[in-house]
Amino acid sequence: MRPWDSFQGTRIKVLRSFLRGAHLTRQEVARLIRQSLPAAASHIDALMEAGLLKLSGQRPSSGGRPADEYQINPPSLAAIGVELHPNYILSICCGINGDIWDSVRTDIDSSLVRDGAYTEAVIAKAINRLQQKWSQQLFIHGAGVAVPGIVDCENRLLVNAPNLFLKNYSFAGLAQKLLLPLYIDNEANAAAIGEYWTSSVPPSTSMVLISIREGVGAGILLAGQVVRGRRWRAGEFGHMAIRAGVRPCNCGRTGCWEQYVSERALIADLGEAAIARLKDHIDDGDASVSSVWARYIESLAIGIENIAACINPDLVVISGSIADLGDRLIQPLQSALAEVSFLTQGIQVSVSKHPNIASALGAGLMTFSGLLPGLGLKKPEMLNMYENRMTSTKNEGDSHVG
Ligand SMILES: [Zn+2]
Repeated sequence: MRPWDSFQGTRIKVLRSFLRGAHLTRQEVARLIRQSLPAAASHIDALMEAGLLKLSGQRPSSGGRPADEYQINPPSLAAIGVELHPNYILSICCGINGDIWDSVRTDIDSSLVRDGAYTEAVIAKAINRLQQKWSQQLFIHGAGVAVPGIVDCENRLLVNAPNLFLKNYSFAGLAQKLLLPLYIDNEANAAAIGEYWTSSVPPSTSMVLISIREGVGAGILLAGQVVRGRRWRAGEFGHMAIRAGVRPCNCGRTGCWEQYVSERALIADLGEAAIARLKDHIDDGDASVSSVWARYIESLAIGIENIAACINPDLVVISGSIADLGDRLIQPLQSALAEVSFLTQGIQVSVSKHPNIASALGAGLMTFSGLLPGLGLKKPEMLNMYENRMTSTKNEGDSHVG
């Protein structure tokens, strides 16, 4: 039996003590688990052998030889993240520090996605495949699934995904079938988590990530906490009307932002290879492309101005394949935003560091926030734990414990 085969029991308690960022000696672990020193040593040895712990230094003692100190070994801590898209499913295996160990993209039958049982089966298959492949080398802590729609995270219920034509589908059954803790969230929330977790922005940063895919969603992070709203609908900016009375939307309304700035809107104007056409022709004066592009930037700016009026964030991040355009997207967007500077002044706009995998990455990373009770997504604790302390070998006495 591998040391992590059970989420119950003393060994996982030992592991969780270390996951809270502690540097602990064998004596301290023995006190924490209320067992003998040899029992504590055997748990530590097993976790060391599994690659989950490593020596971090030595604790000076007033008499006798110094005691070895141990800490978590992040490279072995991993999770599976899945992003569901109407046409494909992207699954990744990632480390707690954001390293991506594996990624698999599989096309799915878009006409069947509206059948919840089919969708659940493809998600289960994607998770099982990566779990089987990696669980001998890595501690797969959990799996997260990002879906384009309104998600009741607590009950693992997909409330409504207009672009999947799927409503009120519970993934509670899937959670029971998988031998892993399962998390489900909106794809833009997941992308915001992935971006924030792996970025170097200060912890207090307020950020809105705009996920531009088939539809448009947004993840709102205020001081490290995802804002989901009373009924899980916060950040549904894709369905904010920017031009009344025109362009019907799958949500039943008209003039929704995503009808102007989603990938689907670009494909309607520029054909299936819309993003590739933009990459090739934005700068070369092709009138059919430049007129679409000018209107696109204008529509994108209107939405961001509205978001700025609601939230006034420090940072707006754009993800999705349009973000591959980099500065060729950001520069005209900043110019458009500067025209209404009283709303958007001082707001930094950038493209995602992971434009095409942010949702899957965030879905994987969100599983770790659940492992650490009470930690939520507070970046100071999370990143201090895995960045600063990993490189620190200095001894700080018992203040580590906890
Ligand atoms: Zn809509």
